[in-house]
Amino acid sequence: MLRSIKLQSLIYRSFLTSSLVPLFAIELLLLLLYFGVNAYLSDHHQNAFVEEVVSNLEGISIREANLVDGQLAEVSRMAALMQRAHEDFFAHPERCKDVVPTGLFRTHPNGALYKAFDNGGASLYFSASTAATEAVLRKAWCSEQLDPMFKALVNQNPLVSQAYLNTWDDMNRLYPFMENAPVQYGSGLHMEDYNFYFLADKKHNPERKPVWTSVYLDPAGQGWLVSVVVPVYRGDFLEGVSGLDITIDTFVRAILDADLPRGASRFLVDHDGVILAMPPSVEQLLKLKELRHPVAVSAIRRTVEKPEEFNLLKSSNDEIRRKMTDVLNDVSPNGQYSLSINGADYLLNSQRIPATGWHIITLVDQATLLAPMSELHSISNQVGFVAISIMVVFYVLFFLYLENKSRHLAKRVADPIERLSNLTSSLGDQLVMEKLTSVGIAEIDRLYGNFNRMSSQLEQKTQALVDSETREKVRRKETEILERLAITDRLTGLYNRRKLDEVLTCEVERSNRSGHPFSIVMLDIDHFKNVNDTHGHPVGDQVIVELAILLLEFIRKIDIVGRWGGEEFVIVCPMTDLVGARQLAEKLRVEIFNHHFPVIEHLTASFGIASSMAEKHYEPIIDRADQGLYDAKRSGRNRVGVRLIAPRNDDGALL
Ligand code: GH3
Ligand code: MG
Ligand code: MG
Repeated sequence: MLRSIKLQSLIYRSFLTSSLVPLFAIELLLLLLYFGVNAYLSDHHQNAFVEEVVSNLEGISIREANLVDGQLAEVSRMAALMQRAHEDFFAHPERCKDVVPTGLFRTHPNGALYKAFDNGGASLYFSASTAATEAVLRKAWCSEQLDPMFKALVNQNPLVSQAYLNTWDDMNRLYPFMENAPVQYGSGLHMEDYNFYFLADKKHNPERKPVWTSVYLDPAGQGWLVSVVVPVYRGDFLEGVSGLDITIDTFVRAILDADLPRGASRFLVDHDGVILAMPPSVEQLLKLKELRHPVAVSAIRRTVEKPEEFNLLKSSNDEIRRKMTDVLNDVSPNGQYSLSINGADYLLNSQRIPATGWHIITLVDQATLLAPMSELHSISNQVGFVAISIMVVFYVLFFLYLENKSRHLAKRVADPIERLSNLTSSLGDQLVMEKLTSVGIAEIDRLYGNFNRMSSQLEQKTQALVDSETREKVRRKETEILERLAITDRLTGLYNRRKLDEVLTCEVERSNRSGHPFSIVMLDIDHFKNVNDTHGHPVGDQVIVELAILLLEFIRKIDIVGRWGGEEFVIVCPMTDLVGARQLAEKLRVEIFNHHFPVIEHLTASFGIASSMAEKHYEPIIDRADQGLYDAKRSGRNRVGVRLIAPRNDDGALL
């Protein structure tokens, strides 16, 4: 059986399935599409953006590296030029014929030989370990020929801060002129101990090419330097090493100061991992320091290389150390790496400068790089969430609206149907049915019309039925009244003579069948004529009615009293013998005598009694009562008379 559901639920469900569900599904689909496309585009843009930035940074780094490389190459070429000039100088000592001037060179108290004043050329220093012989003085003087070249090289290229020549016998020529060289260098400067010297020797540089040193602290007080050094040979004998110094501080400033996009930072390391230049932000990140300011050089006797704390390969961070090893071992011109430091991801671009093996390294924080993209992504996500919130609010409101609407609609449809249903269930309970009025819904109105028509027809039929029933009732009542009137005395309401005939006939029969006698008491008002005569007929009527009431009051329930005629009454007493009848008659006589009648005040009545004696008809019994009454009248009235008369036959003859 089909389960019944309420009309409101039915309407609500159909609203829900027909409008809310499809709408919700479409909106959900659109939202998913929005978030999906958003995520895809964001990802796509992000990758494209990263590629773009990386390529941009790479371009900048390549240009920078090329520029640096070009500049260093030029310095290298200058060193090579210097190399040839020096070798030429050492190959032709005969070209120097001049006499050594006096006063130009002096021996310092610490034993070192030096140029006493600046004559516009280089400074000169001989270690105290080399005795200031004639030959030494001559070498000091003759090598003055090299000064114009030093001067030209230093002045021609702004990168070059110093040009020098160090020889096997611990001579140092340095341009620009350095005051007090013995003080700066001390008494015994042993050239072969310095990296700029041994890098150029046969073992380290068999090809006799220009070689770049690591960064070192200049003993001549110029700060952190790199040198390109060239060996100066005379035949197979290494006469010395010439070099050009570059003060890296000024040199790398351009690299650090380059305007980099997207929060990128750049630093410069040499092939050993020593930091040549590093901005403070990268120092903090890598927990390394760039030594910017030279320590007091006066105390320095040997070249000082940057200590370990300035070396990336000595970093305490494993990831940095490993990654930097990879970077520095990579001899390709450039490389892309990713680096994770303290949970933050970085893109790392390394650009190698071929001349020196240095690396220009650019670090880009991915979070900073992608911040604008992430912000855009987050904004578009927020837009999505706002859309979801609006959707939720919309659906809540729409849901409430639908519920309200469905309730109204259901009420509009269900109420008339329920009304009809109630009416049909009470159909037949009332004669006149309520008439249903239009509700504005065609089908229901038609149903109402049919119902109204049906109930009118029913009403008419019921009315007709009721009418016929009523008529029947009235007729029966009338008959009853007529019947009652036929046996009732009009004045007193007691049975009339006709009814008494019936009762007596019936009692005769019953008495004969049962064998029990019945008795009758007949009474007649004494001198009633006088009442009429004295007080008038209406008072006489009133006295008759009063007496009837009195009789009804004192007889037994089974006794029947009737008006026999005029002012005579008969009481039929079933199952009563003559003694009983006498008692009743006597009792009534006393009551009448003692009763206070209106107007006339006093009244008496005479009684005649008789009992049945198995007669077939009642007349003989009436006769005997009548005779008794006669006797009572004759003997003075207000008494009970009994005449015992032998029963007569049907013809009236005494038996
Ligand atoms: P008694 O019986 O004592 O011999 O005297 P009585 O005067 O009663 O007897 P009588 O038969 O001569 O008178 C009866 C009177 O009763 C005559 C009649 O006018 C009156 N009567 C009979 N029927 C009615 C009645 O219905 N109403 C009235 N007011 N009087 C009635
Ligand atoms: Mg009479
Ligand atoms: Mg009388």
